[in-house]
Amino acid sequence: TSEHRRLGSNGAPSHLFYQTRQRRPLVDRAEGIYIWAQDGRRFIDGSSGAMVVNIGHGNPVVLEAMRRQMEKATFAYRLHFENEASEALAAKTVEYTWPGMDKVFFVSGGSEAVESCLKMARQYAVATGQASRTKVISRFPAYHGSTLGALAVTGYTALSAPFTAMMQEMPKIPAPTAYLDRDDLTMEQRGLRYADMLEAEIQRQGPDSVLAFIMEPVGGASTGALVAPDSYYGRVREICDRHGVILIYDEVMSGAGRTGKFLAAEHWPARPDLIALSKGFGSGYVPLGAMVAPDRMVQPVLEAGGFQHGYTYAGNPLACAAGLAVLGEIERLDLVGNAARMGDLLKARLTGLMDRYPFIGDVRGKGLLLAAELVADRDSMQVLPKGLNAYDRVVELAYERGLIIYSRRTRGGTEGDHFLVCPPMIVTPVQIDEIMAILTDTLDALAA
Ligand code: PMP
Repeated sequence: TSEHRRLGSNGAPSHLFYQTRQRRPLVDRAEGIYIWAQDGRRFIDGSSGAMVVNIGHGNPVVLEAMRRQMEKATFAYRLHFENEASEALAAKTVEYTWPGMDKVFFVSGGSEAVESCLKMARQYAVATGQASRTKVISRFPAYHGSTLGALAVTGYTALSAPFTAMMQEMPKIPAPTAYLDRDDLTMEQRGLRYADMLEAEIQRQGPDSVLAFIMEPVGGASTGALVAPDSYYGRVREICDRHGVILIYDEVMSGAGRTGKFLAAEHWPARPDLIALSKGFGSGYVPLGAMVAPDRMVQPVLEAGGFQHGYTYAGNPLACAAGLAVLGEIERLDLVGNAARMGDLLKARLTGLMDRYPFIGDVRGKGLLLAAELVADRDSMQVLPKGLNAYDRVVELAYERGLIIYSRRTRGGTEGDHFLVCPPMIVTPVQIDEIMAILTDTLDALAA
């Protein structure tokens, strides 16, 4: 049935119109890495929702912290009251960054976190006499959110097309898909070549007009966990410094431990100026996101009259109490370490699938942000025909078998199928066996 004829759970026409194309069962309950439907079926949440539930479902310490906060005060507006939870969460968040990154602005999701970074960058430029800087360079493919500002830097034409006429389109450069290149260069040389596309784009736009560059340090759903060659990160930083361009890392998906470091930025010596966090930061318990910013950028903005930005729910006590407990559990259970260890194990197991399935062209990612790419031919990395809908079929075949994974058809400048396997960071080796058994069965069915 078409979307607008969908029947709701009570059999009457549904008043919701934002659900998936496929009919999905009603959710009943969730615990750890598992999630049950009301019809009794059990699923492994192999994508942590949309790479959200980093600490797993139903964590009792987080639930208790939320209950305690709810009994005290669920909401107190920040212009009327300060709250301990937001103060403590800000302090804890800053502990995970580096010296100088000491200011936090809370929001309710990833798009809002990205908007906050874009607006902070702009207000900093205006406050420091650089009002000519308005352009934010980003990459394609990339996903940075669905609000109009975040969408303007999202390199995903299908999503932005209806809106381009009503927003300022931002310049894009290719994501560093060095693994696809068939040339004589080393990976490190390719990394520099992709970074130098930023230099070229800044020159094309005119350096005085460029405000910022935004990227996912480890790609999310859009690129299928794309990691650039190491040389890329340092060169991007150098180029931004040379031209006074603010470097924004969108760590909405890669942050909060998922890549085996609390921030993906920590994998390389280069550091961004602004960071957007969400998803795993609230781990699905509450809508929560954050911008982390250096005092050297925040102070001029405050002195020039304040940060012109804000959301009613920003820094509310319930979201912050939950976020604080999430970070506490990440620490207590060493989930960043577990993401690194289990990520290595899972990546080795996924790589092992390449012996069995010639249509797996690449396995990539860091920690538990992992993806496999499906191709027609591994040597040429030729994509599968679009009509096959391999990205969709693999998800459906896994779903029927009780495993939830996440997929997209976006790769570099062309289309291509990939799927992500990103279980919660509490996953155990036995559970990885369980995931791999279903995945093998799924890929057998896909090959058939
Ligand atoms: N940035 C990245 C890298 C994301 O993966 C997402 C969500 N998929 C967003 C931003 C937007 O976050 P939200 O959906 O919470 O607004």
